[in-house]
Order: sequence, then structure tokens, then C-alpha cells
Amino acid sequence: MTVFTHLHLHTESSVADSILKLDQALLAVRADGQRAMAITDHGSLRSHFPALIPRHFGPGTSPSGVEPLLGVEAYLDAGLPPYPDGYPRLCHLVLIAKNIEGYQNLVRLQRWAWTHNLVIGRFPALTLPMIEQFHRGLICTTACVGGPVGRPVTLGLWDVAEDLFLRFNDLFDEDFYGEVSAHPLAEQPEINRAVALFSGRAGRRIVQTVDSHYLGPADWISHDCLLKTKDKRKSGYRYPAACFYLAPEWRVRGYGFNPEWIDETNRVAEKCSAAAEVRAAILTAASVRGGPQPSAAATAMTSEELFLSKTVPITPYDALRSVWVWAGLPPGGWSELAAHARRIKRMASVQSYPVRAFSRKYPNLWSMARGLAGLPRAVCPDFRHKILVSDALKDLIPVRTVDGLPVAEIDCVTARALHLPVRQTAESEREPHKGIEEFYRGLAFWWNDRPRQALRAFQVSIAAVPSAGIGTSLSIPALGRPCPSAGIGTSLSIPALGRPCPSALILARIRLAQSLRELGRQDESDKWLRDLRQDPHVDSLHLKKFVMAIGRPAVPVPGIQLELYPEVAVLSMPDSITPDFGEIRKACEPAVAAGIRDVIVSGPAIARLESRHSRAARLNPVLARFRKYLKSRAIDLHINLDISQIPSRIDPPAKSPPTRERNVSRSRQRRPIGAGTSA
Ligand SMILES: [Zn+2]
Ligand SMILES: [Zn+2]
Repeated sequence: MTVFTHLHLHTESSVADSILKLDQALLAVRADGQRAMAITDHGSLRSHFPALIPRHFGPGTSPSGVEPLLGVEAYLDAGLPPYPDGYPRLCHLVLIAKNIEGYQNLVRLQRWAWTHNLVIGRFPALTLPMIEQFHRGLICTTACVGGPVGRPVTLGLWDVAEDLFLRFNDLFDEDFYGEVSAHPLAEQPEINRAVALFSGRAGRRIVQTVDSHYLGPADWISHDCLLKTKDKRKSGYRYPAACFYLAPEWRVRGYGFNPEWIDETNRVAEKCSAAAEVRAAILTAASVRGGPQPSAAATAMTSEELFLSKTVPITPYDALRSVWVWAGLPPGGWSELAAHARRIKRMASVQSYPVRAFSRKYPNLWSMARGLAGLPRAVCPDFRHKILVSDALKDLIPVRTVDGLPVAEIDCVTARALHLPVRQTAESEREPHKGIEEFYRGLAFWWNDRPRQALRAFQVSIAAVPSAGIGTSLSIPALGRPCPSAGIGTSLSIPALGRPCPSALILARIRLAQSLRELGRQDESDKWLRDLRQDPHVDSLHLKKFVMAIGRPAVPVPGIQLELYPEVAVLSMPDSITPDFGEIRKACEPAVAAGIRDVIVSGPAIARLESRHSRAARLNPVLARFRKYLKSRAIDLHINLDISQIPSRIDPPAKSPPTRERNVSRSRQRRPIGAGTSA
């Protein structure tokens, strides 16, 4: 019997929402003695195939020593009343494949949702009739506070919640589970009660989960940095709590829920053999390719070819700029940042002199940036590679759409590692997709502060897409009003047009305006924005969301702020004051009283610690004293946030206190809980 199995986990394929890299997660759960780990990304199956590649992590039954459970946190249109502004209210639903039949159904369901039911251009939504049709071989749980129980209960609709619960109960029978979590959200306790009540009445079992988005409690800061710089500029958006991390088994037990709910997660894992079966089926399909080839005509009849997909990754420069923005450093320092970043070849390597220099000067920013580098900013088609989806592979290859174009949710490296039939495309095959290709090229430039190149790419993109797409199409009949896609890499299916319209077009126009502004061409930028505002098919709310982000100054924080979570306390220090030891200790009192074991210092204080500024020079000894004070109460102070380090040992680190805020070992979270509070 294993210790615990995570059944609700987001990898980097939950784009712009999770900073947990797949390999990182596999290593961390293996280090904790867990034998399996579910992969349930938001509406995406993209991390499944990489999890099937043989890895050399060490001995174990499966390639990584950890059995991946192939799942999804799907969007579900359960017919709940829409939001006040008219947007459809979707639920989350966790589905995990038990066997290959379940996996095929998962692929069918997700493909249908991406190609036939993309809600407001962003969310591939399942419907109850579709799930009824393709539920075999799947395990289903009630998911998070946004699930089919959570959403209606939050709205006070307990009857609706129980009706939905019973529908899934009838359909999935003993493969249906109530899901409870200890997240410190206001609505969580009531939802847990509802789930426990309905499960008790229906005789269903319950599983305990942690909605994991990052590796450890302190990584909340890096995660926050990713969220807040999602649209390049700093925004006020934040996650409601700091506990959405890949908790080790002792922590999950420490929440004090029924231990039976933890044991049940292992029984769910034992039911699942999908990864092994899918791996075997793919390898068989690959070996068959060596034999006699079917005629071209027969292939055309039964197979289809799809472009692969790839990501627009966060480059080292992009990562550095993001933490720079997040920390509120003055834009004047950007040239310095650029001078360093331009010379950085590999983020992970600290061999070259410029990298070493930067990481010495800004150790905290550096370690945060390292954690962000390589994560995807967006998913886009890989127009250079196509995969042949033969009969044998049909319903095994996950498919999504990008700007209306169906693509395989696999990147080229993964496809080749699994010996899938991939070929390079010809120029003529790429030509019709020039508009989308150029948009994503421009996007990569734009993210990396190269507005001139971005501008050119966006101009080509706009010119390449027929203008019929703009004026006539961006109205969503179901919504009764026009709406552009809010996301990148999404599409709107336009019945009136008879074809999907690339949402990239709207975004290309917005990004173009932003690029012009960054180049100092204010008048031209304003003209583009005026055009966009006057376009009746552009949703003003969304336009505001993108445009308002330009150049918005960071809101000053009046004093030291303490946020208290069951896991950690976060002390945000404004830049405007230099707190003394007494003030910091006073602000932190509630955390000490609550028995918190980890305190994170965040905000501009982090940046200031690394400057030669006189105020920072005064703050450093204050923090050193504060650290000593916390230490005497068995509390750790975190400033260095290195999320790329995997805990390599289970014991607490040696007692010698670090002299500076570096090298804070990630293994600290493994201590027994002691006085930790429970939700
Ligand atoms: Zn959710
Ligand atoms: Zn989730």
C-alpha cells in the first residue's frame, strides 16, 4: 500500500496557471514514496505523452518510478445559471482514465469539446449528454470548489448540487468519488460538508486531494509572479491562498481529515492501468509502421494528418523581466537587465560569468526567474511538423484547437521519443496558415521586449488574415453579444462565416498597438486602439483588460501586510517605509500565535534587499534579527525561493543558520507538523 496519491494536479500544461513542471512533480512525489500521480490539467492532455517517455530517474516499475494517472480537469457546462454579466458558468470536473478504453473516451471527449464546444473561445466544455455517451473506463470526482457540487452549493443551490451528484453517481457507479480538500477558502468547508453528505447518502467513497499548482509553500511567490505578469505588465490578480502546492503525505494527513479518504486515493491509483496500456498501444502502432505500408489511397481514407503543437516558452529574458516587474523595480534598471539577459545562454547553467554576476547581485530575483524559465506562455501550432494519425492511433492522440485549427496536443520532441509517425511539412502546407504563424512569432518577440520585430510580425499576421474575419464574425450566438477571445491560442467557431475565425487577429491588433507604444510611436498606437474601441465586435471589457495593463503603476501598499494561511504567512513590505524590528515582529504576531512554521517576506522588500540603497542596507540587519527571533520559535524565514531545487533528503537541514538569505533548502517542508494548524 502506498502512502498517498495525488489525484488532482496541474502541470505546466495548465498554461499560465501552474508552475509545476512535470519532471519536477514526478521526482518530488517519488522522493515522498508515492507510487502514482494523477495529471489533471485544465482542459488539456498535453502532459500525458511526456509522462509516457522512459526516463532515467532511477529504479522503479514505470519509466519514472511513478505511475502517471492520465486525467484532466475538464470544463463542464452543467446548465447552471450564467454569471451576472451573461458569461456561461462552467464547472470543473476531474476525469481519470482507468484503462485504454477510458483514455480513448477521454481523448474523444476533449477533442469534441475543443472542436465543437469552445465556450467564449477559451474553454473546451463537456456536456452531460457527451459524458453519458463516453464515460466508460473513466473515473470521475467532484473536483474543486468549482466542481458540480461546489459551484451550485456556493450559489445556495443544494438541490441542484445533489441532482448533479446523483447523475454522476448513476453514471460512473463505483468509479465516482466525492472529492474534499483542506484549502483555506471561505466556501470550502461548506462544500466539503455537502460532498460528505451526498456521498454518505449515496454510499460513495471520498478522496482527499490537494489542488497542486506549485512545488512547495514558498513557491507561491513565484507562482504569484507568473499570474501577475501574465499579460506582461503587473496586474492585481492573485490566488486566494498559498496552499495549492504538491503536499507530501505527512502534510496531507496533517490536515486532520478522515484517514480513510487518503487511503482511498491509493485504491483509485490501483484501479488505473491506462498509462501502461496506452504506452503499449503506441509502441505497437510504431512497430507496425516498419511492415508493409498501406496504399496512399487507403491511408487517405482512414487516417488524418494533423499539425503538432508547441509552446511559446518563457525565455530567460522574459523570466527575468517578469520578476523585475513583479518586484516593482524601476524601469530604469531594464537596460541593466537586458545587458545581462542577452548574454544568458542557458538559464539553468551558472557557469558563465554574466550569469554568475547576475545571480550574485540579485540572488532572490535570480532564483525566482530560474523557476519560471521554460514554462509555456501559450500553446501554438507547430507548422513544421505533422503527425499521421492512423487507425491504430485514432482516439489515442489528444487533439486541441488553436485559433480554430485542430492540432495534436504533442510536441515534436515527445512525438519522436515515442516513435510516432511525424514528418516535416513543405512550405506550401504552411502558407495558408501564415497569419497564425506570424502572430505567434510576433508574440514571442513581444514577450521579450523586441517591439520592432514584434510589430513587423503582427503587421504580416493582420495582412495575411482575410479581413472578412473581423467585421462579421466575432459574435457568439449563445451569448447574444459580441466577444473576442480573451486568451491566446484559442478560437471562435463562427457559424455565420462557416469557418473558425482566428482570435489571434484581435490579439494581433492589440499587441501591435502595444508594440507601437513601446517604440514611442504614441500617435499610431492611439489610432489602433481607437479603431479597436470603435469595432462593435470587440468586447470593451476584454479590450480594457489588455489595454489598461499598459504602463499601470504599481499600487503602493500603505504598511506591512500579513496574510495568514494554514501553511505559511506572507509578510508584504511596501517600498515606502523602512520598518524596524519591532514593527515587523508586531505585524507577524498573529502568525506566531497561529503556530505557522514558515514565513515568507515578499513585496518590494525582496528587491530592495539586493540594492545598495541605504534603506535596504538598514533593512538587512533588521531581517537578520527577525530571522533569529523566528528561529527561536521554530519558524523559518524564506526569502530565497528556488523552485528548481528538488528536495533530495527527508531530514530537516543542518542547524547552522544561513548567513544570508540564500540556500534556503526546499527540504524544510518535510518536517513533522507539530503545531501546524489544520483547516
Ligand atoms: Zn478546479
Ligand atoms: Zn485544479
